[in-house]
Amino acid sequence: MQTEYKTPSQQQDYGSDPIAVRDTANYQREYIQDFVGKWDQLISWEARAKSEGNFFIDILKEHGARKILDVATGTGFHSIRLREAGFEVVSADGSPEMLSRAFENGRDHGLILRTVQADWRWLNRDIHGKFDAVICLGNSFTHLFSERDRRKALAEFYAALRHDGLLILDQRNYDGILDSGFSSKHIYYYCGENVKAEPEHMDDGLARFRYEFPDKSVFHLNMYPLRKDYTRKLMQDVGFQRIKTYGDFQETHHQDDPDFFIHVAEKQ
Ligand code: SAM
Repeated sequence: MQTEYKTPSQQQDYGSDPIAVRDTANYQREYIQDFVGKWDQLISWEARAKSEGNFFIDILKEHGARKILDVATGTGFHSIRLREAGFEVVSADGSPEMLSRAFENGRDHGLILRTVQADWRWLNRDIHGKFDAVICLGNSFTHLFSERDRRKALAEFYAALRHDGLLILDQRNYDGILDSGFSSKHIYYYCGENVKAEPEHMDDGLARFRYEFPDKSVFHLNMYPLRKDYTRKLMQDVGFQRIKTYGDFQETHHQDDPDFFIHVAEKQ
């Protein structure tokens, strides 16, 4: 059953026991305006574009993809880059808050984004037509807290693709932190020292990250710590035939231990 959407409050609220919050629908309450606004302000899109280069554009072009479904539009970074690179893009997200910001960001770039509010678990109820590629980027898939939801979402992505379509999905590298425990906890810096992200709690079912901004404001995200091979297996289980996993494309403080993995899964 679809969770009813409520306008996010202006403060994150995890209640009295934040580490007990392990709910797929919680993403709609986590991305409050302040958090999203700060993020967009501090992580310059130019710096982000520079660090990822043409990685996604090249893969999409290599596969001859033209019609793209961005299922985790967020504030629109990839949707806008791909539109500017000449792709046809439908920009979906489960959060209306995110979509309205993406739409505004699109207008600032002289584009009218085709936005659709859709939760991945019932994506094809709201998204019609078939796509050459589905992208789910920016460590978004980590928001799903049950295996059932993850399988359902991947099956919905699979169904939205043409017979020879491609799914590109990235995730943070949680394996290192899970395997070596908290001693290995490393701090991630985005854009120099602008945003500091570190795990505050970690167990097999929860990665709770703390984000600190230069004005000392602090936000959190509760995420499911996906293991790389587990994600790959789920993709195989739902029917993807070939899965290639890349390490960071971007600058990292940990060359042997990438911050992110990018899975490219082919339907054919
Ligand atoms: N891709 C963007 C980027 O890289 O900047 C946004 C990434 S943000 C970390 C994750 C996005 O996934 C949010 O916009 C959130 O609303 C969306 N999201 C999380 N769970 C979702 C779900 N079950 N269905 C649809 N969207 C979801």
